Amino acid sequence: MEMIRAENLRHVYKSSAGDKVALDGVSFSVAEGEFVAIIGTNGSGKSTLAKHFNALLLPSDGKIFVDGLDTSDEKNLWQVRENVGMVFQNPDSEIVAAIVEDDVAFGLENLGIEPKKIRERVDLALDAVNMSGYRNFAPSKLSGGQKQRIAIAGVIAMNTKVIVFDEPTAMLDPLGRREVLTMVKRLHAQGKTIIYITHFMEEAAQAQRVLLMAGGRILRDDTPRNIFTDAKEMKRLGFDVPVAAEMAARLRRKGFNLPQKILTADELAEALKKLK
Ligand code: ADP
Ligand code: MG
Repeated sequence: MEMIRAENLRHVYKSSAGDKVALDGVSFSVAEGEFVAIIGTNGSGKSTLAKHFNALLLPSDGKIFVDGLDTSDEKNLWQVRENVGMVFQNPDSEIVAAIVEDDVAFGLENLGIEPKKIRERVDLALDAVNMSGYRNFAPSKLSGGQKQRIAIAGVIAMNTKVIVFDEPTAMLDPLGRREVLTMVKRLHAQGKTIIYITHFMEEAAQAQRVLLMAGGRILRDDTPRNIFTDAKEMKRLGFDVPVAAEMAARLRRKGFNLPQKILTADELAEALKKLK
């Protein structure tokens, strides 16, 4: 089942200083339950694309459909927003309430759900991100990673089909990054459709599929293995590759007889063990 389809999507930011083409003919589709990472240099259009998934922005040209709904059709707006949860980069700008559980409940209260149901869903969502013990905390007392987990709990409570993450780990320390990625993978395992924008290649390598953006277009749409084991091409495009893929490429150049498409540290360790 198809969950998202973009057809020749264009987005132009208009201003007195001139027009800026941020998306220049983007086409792809995402199946229900897929985990897709989006990578791209700064200004390549990732965040602009993210905002099209829940109609925060509307196409200047072309179309985007979410669960079959044309986002530019005004009568679909409410249903599109109900289908797509968003988690952004800066946890501080996402927190809206003074108490953790109120923050998680915020979206539900706006839907007019009865208080008992809200409490149940907030409990489950806080539990899902291992933050039940913090329900009465002030969000300002939490670490960045904990704040992002609260933001994720808010989305879980909304029970959307799709969750879009726009560089959710960019402001976190390594522990916070791991916590967030664990949540993302768990949500994917539970059947959510995940769009995960990141500039950490190690994170993108964990998706099922990677879209690589440059200049408002999609340059590559392939598996992480195919994308990241082409270290030379990735360098040319200005990207790193995951450390294990980089090491494997270097070892091969030094004459080690390693398979071509090593992506993870485990795979590299296994391949080296076979050489003993
Ligand atoms: P990314 O998330 O990949 O860094 P963005 O989608 O934020 O890229 O931006 C794509 C391009 O659009 C950039 O050139 C950026 O400067 C421009 N842009 C983004 N937001 C606006 C805006 N509100 N007004 C004008 N230009 C914008
Ligand atoms: Mg961005």
